[in-house]
Amino acid sequence: MENAIRIGAVAAVAALGLAGCLGTRPPARAQAAAIEVPAIARPGGETPEWWFRAGAAAAQRARAGTAGQARNLIVFLGDGMSIGTIAAARILEGQRRGDSGEENRLSFEDFPYTALSRTYETDQQTPDSAGTMSAIMTGVKTRAGVIGVTQRVPRGDCAALAGNEAASLLELAAAAGMATGIVTTARLTHATPAATYGHQPDRHWEHDGAMPASAHAQGCIDLARQFVAFPFPLDLALGGGRARFLPATQPDPERPGTTGLRRDGRDLVAEWLRRPGAVYVWNADQLAAIDPAAAGPVLGLFEPGHMNYQHQRARDAGGEPGLAEMTRVAIERLARKPHGYFLMVEAGRIDHAHHAGNAFRALDETIALSDAVRTAVAMTDAADTLILVTADHAHTMSFVGYPVRGNPILGLVRGVAHEDDNESGPVLDLLGRPYTTLGYANGPGYAGASQAQGAGAKRFPHAPRTVEPAVGRPDLAAIDTTDPDYLQEALLPLASESHSGEDVAVFARGPGAEAVRGSLEQNVLFHLLAQASEPIRRTLCRIGSCTAQGVPVHLPDRRRLLPVTRGER
Ligand SMILES: [Zn+2]
Repeated sequence: MENAIRIGAVAAVAALGLAGCLGTRPPARAQAAAIEVPAIARPGGETPEWWFRAGAAAAQRARAGTAGQARNLIVFLGDGMSIGTIAAARILEGQRRGDSGEENRLSFEDFPYTALSRTYETDQQTPDSAGTMSAIMTGVKTRAGVIGVTQRVPRGDCAALAGNEAASLLELAAAAGMATGIVTTARLTHATPAATYGHQPDRHWEHDGAMPASAHAQGCIDLARQFVAFPFPLDLALGGGRARFLPATQPDPERPGTTGLRRDGRDLVAEWLRRPGAVYVWNADQLAAIDPAAAGPVLGLFEPGHMNYQHQRARDAGGEPGLAEMTRVAIERLARKPHGYFLMVEAGRIDHAHHAGNAFRALDETIALSDAVRTAVAMTDAADTLILVTADHAHTMSFVGYPVRGNPILGLVRGVAHEDDNESGPVLDLLGRPYTTLGYANGPGYAGASQAQGAGAKRFPHAPRTVEPAVGRPDLAAIDTTDPDYLQEALLPLASESHSGEDVAVFARGPGAEAVRGSLEQNVLFHLLAQASEPIRRTLCRIGSCTAQGVPVHLPDRRRLLPVTRGER
């Protein structure tokens, strides 16, 4: 049934495409025939093939009238970088310079094109990082918690894996002869970076010890091993997560007393070094000392777990490169390759700081991402490099109250006391206590129950005016809420603050960027990138099928990518 609908649509599109070719206007300027997207049987009844085709159609519509083709693709992913996070981070950066802050612009806010990205997954209203990055990397929305596979793979089901791996942009780029790189401040095996190279029914299977015996028995391979066995050329990978690559018997080089995590005894760093010319580094000095002329692939694993927050980086024992420095090294190396490159750079710890209920680090990491993007902009040419900056999902951080212009973004809300004067003073809640501009809907910052009102659920309309002795909220009058370790208050007590389901922003610069506009399903980003890269587009047409105008509309079979590629390169 699904198949019948799809095949019918392919035939219809082929006919439309032919009509387009016979038109009188030159092909480059011709109004491309719209790609027909079949109606789905019921809401939520989308198939992987449908997601791919609908994404291709949306990207083609957005690209109408433009012919932007990029030599290089760079995707910057701020993990959990909600629009509120961007607004607050720009203010913090401006205020660090002594300015009022609201008028400041992060580097990517000067990009000429923007869009909104809708982040829901096939099975979740509010998404996780695995399914969302998989959507950006493979062109199809999928389930929460899975890496680089379609929704046909239930989470944790190894038996369903075979044949449902979705080819990623990084794989397609490598197969097309482009250079490839991954940079992250998280573990290299964490959801976002893993979705560039891995295919796994469960994001948590980062090393063999994290997998259930049943998964081993069914032949699933942990993400660290998948990385090292990546069947395509990979030129550079920098991030954290060293312990997932080293055996439990091997002491960590930077943290004596700790060891690797692998139970299978394999030293995956040693296995990586078997690649011709391969280089491995684990600290900033070693990274800086790599011979720039050496062409071999580079692996950098700078921490046993996630890399340090930018705020704590200087205290690192072994010395860690920052995100901008890693981005610089990556572009320097990739740009020397002859056929263009694909680079993914993740600011992975914006998300972790939000989960911890700590706005300071989330904003600080966002500023570090802005610095990395500025580095990339300075090193590349907008005439040949498409740069996308986006997030996988939002977080619950809210930016509220009526603080006056220039109020410290991490501080207490100070408002204009009276309408007829300009003096500002602390704004108080109904309990008579001050509150911060930034807060969370849930998370570790929950400060206890309020006694200002009776217990129980409230009904609308509800206007509490009781001002009883307030013990429910902490009195922040004497608290420095701008302290880097301060946890903003949260409405609900949760051990880990949650993601939110709001749209995230996309910023774009370079050839093909003009198509980044409107309200896009997240998987459309893959298609905007693929349609803007001639080698990737051609590869997709080779292993899948394309319209008469050469738009890849058919979910490619990744198994067809493998054998052809190995021989070619
Ligand atoms: Zn998260």
